[in-house]
Amino acid sequence: MDPMPPGLCGDCRHSRVIVNRRGSRFYLCERSRTDPAYPRYPRLPVLRCAGYEPTPAEADRDQRSRP
Ligand code: SF4
Repeated sequence: MDPMPPGLCGDCRHSRVIVNRRGSRFYLCERSRTDPAYPRYPRLPVLRCAGYEPTPAEADRDQRSRP
């Protein structure tokens, strides 16, 4: 079975991928360290999130695709 797609967490600068001993991947939200409004391990896929910020590479690509 394919793993659950992460949605926004997949390219958010605040996410960190955790792999356990059995090879399962989890997305840890670093915002949860300072803001209790964010779950430590968000339920995937995250489709909307006020705290989402693209990683620098994604942000660069978004800038280039603008007219
Ligand atoms: S801020 Fe939102 S999109 Fe980013 S890692 Fe946390 S839950 Fe995912």
